Amino acid sequence: MKGRGFVIIGMVLAIFVFAATAGCGGSSQGLPGTTYRMAAKIDDGAQKYFEHQRRCPVCGEKGLVAGQYVEVDGKRVYLDSEACKQEFKKNQSQYLGKMDEWKKQWESTH
Ligand SMILES: [Zn+2]
Repeated sequence: MKGRGFVIIGMVLAIFVFAATAGCGGSSQGLPGTTYRMAAKIDDGAQKYFEHQRRCPVCGEKGLVAGQYVEVDGKRVYLDSEACKQEFKKNQSQYLGKMDEWKKQWESTH
């Protein structure tokens, strides 16, 4: 009976250690579905429309999702949801105008 108790404690400890290590690090991988604060952090090896993109051009929310993007001339524009992706495709020139505006803004301040 005493041995059984140690096994349970061991399991609890293992789960705790796993949870602690899984919670931090590893966020630099380009996993689809992961939220990033800027396009430059999305490590998917693809060309980006605007490296310093921080917001979704459709809803203006901060945070971009690696798997939610639209390719424009081989460059990726990142969004934060499937709904925004569909909306972007519908009014692409309008939202690209927004991206170009952000690009200009960034270039004039850096
Ligand atoms: Zn959005």
